[in-house]
Amino acid sequence: MLPRSLFARRLVNATAIRQQCRNLSLHEYRSAQILKENGVPVPKGAAATTPEQAYEIAKSLNLEDMVIKAQALTGGRGKGVFDSGLKGGVKLISSPFEAKMYAEQMLHHKLITKQSGPAGKEVTAVYIVEREFVRREAYICILMDRGSQAPLIVASSQGGMDIEGVAKETPDAIKTFKVDIHQGVTDELALSVAKELGFSAKAVPKAAETVKNLYKIFITKDATQIEINPLAETTDHEVLAMDAKLAFDDNASFRQPEVWSYRDLSQEDPDEIEAANAGLNFIKLDGTIGCLVNGAGLAMATMDIIKLYGGDPANFLDCGGGATAKTIEKAFELITSDHKVTAIFVNIFGGIVRCDDIAKGLIAVTRHMNINIPLVVRLQGTNVSEAKQLISDSGLKIFSYEDLDEAAEKVCQLAKVVEMARKIDVNVSFELPL
Ligand code: GDP
Ligand code: MN
Repeated sequence: MLPRSLFARRLVNATAIRQQCRNLSLHEYRSAQILKENGVPVPKGAAATTPEQAYEIAKSLNLEDMVIKAQALTGGRGKGVFDSGLKGGVKLISSPFEAKMYAEQMLHHKLITKQSGPAGKEVTAVYIVEREFVRREAYICILMDRGSQAPLIVASSQGGMDIEGVAKETPDAIKTFKVDIHQGVTDELALSVAKELGFSAKAVPKAAETVKNLYKIFITKDATQIEINPLAETTDHEVLAMDAKLAFDDNASFRQPEVWSYRDLSQEDPDEIEAANAGLNFIKLDGTIGCLVNGAGLAMATMDIIKLYGGDPANFLDCGGGATAKTIEKAFELITSDHKVTAIFVNIFGGIVRCDDIAKGLIAVTRHMNINIPLVVRLQGTNVSEAKQLISDSGLKIFSYEDLDEAAEKVCQLAKVVEMARKIDVNVSFELPL
């Protein structure tokens, strides 16, 4: 398999990739805990998973001014709406009773935001925090910049809920700072970033210290992104991380057990989790051609060639070295459960796995699954002629090729035919066997 970083970069070129667990994202309250443990001040608070618990937490905070925040892995919660009708995923409250009331309208409801897509994200917890009185809201983010191959700090004095608007209308208000990976964030760099945040002189040293601590988390926790919006200066000149969006490199999961124990699987795509459990490397995409390929490199080449012939891949799927009947079946289940899919393309190179074994697996799976969309198979490598013979003897309507171009052209053409037929509601039968 290809290194994930390379894999991810390449996939950025494909349209509408869902992030999912390539980068693990944590809930705000989990991220806040990591910040706190590493010397970054955060508002006092705790998370609840039931309305009763929300009541108890608010009671024990014993404050007049609190905020209740929906925990769902999406940005723009403040301006989001719930399928319960409630407007706003961040609410100011002043009593345990209100905490309970909002928790009822937030928990296990879908929060729809600019970033979540129309389906929204289920809220699995609410975070109740002390309400802060802020002078300024700034923005800070640390991420890995592929262009300069170095960590990059992005900072702006115009933080808060409309950072996207700032980026669009006044991009000059957002400054970037490259970090030398060998030197890390020096005092000098931390200070220049801190000065960019627009805080009062009193708060600048604390902001600089915060920048250093955020960078420490970025490095020691194998983060891919640390975004704090807003990073606030309170009326008494304290610096506080009032929201946090942390993402982590899944290649480093083995050495970050604590971070990974915070993973909330309910926020991820169930198909992708299922695929991972079956040893498949699967990412859903927006197109119509379902792909089953062995090897990440070949999978990407397959996606490219599909594009070249005017098609659109519905997924990235690398079954690695395990192209057995069992994995093929799982893969086909995942592919066909996506109703956008109008054709399947199997592109497998028989190296260690022999083509005839793959053909046997394909035939067995095709026979017992009810596949009613065209299936184009390109096999190449060890025992390819035996494989071709098996497929043609099977009597199944499998379009079989040795040449990748021919196969790709065919699958794109067939996918279009089925797509058009569906649009005008004509039933083109590709039932197998014919
Ligand atoms: P997001 O919309 O998902 O980014 O959620 P945030 O956690 O950033 O909350 C949205 C906005 O609510 C923030 O940008 C702040 O402007 C505001 N907010 C949240 N908590 C507080 C608070 O304690 N005090 C004040 N003054 N504003 C807050
Ligand atoms: Mn925010």
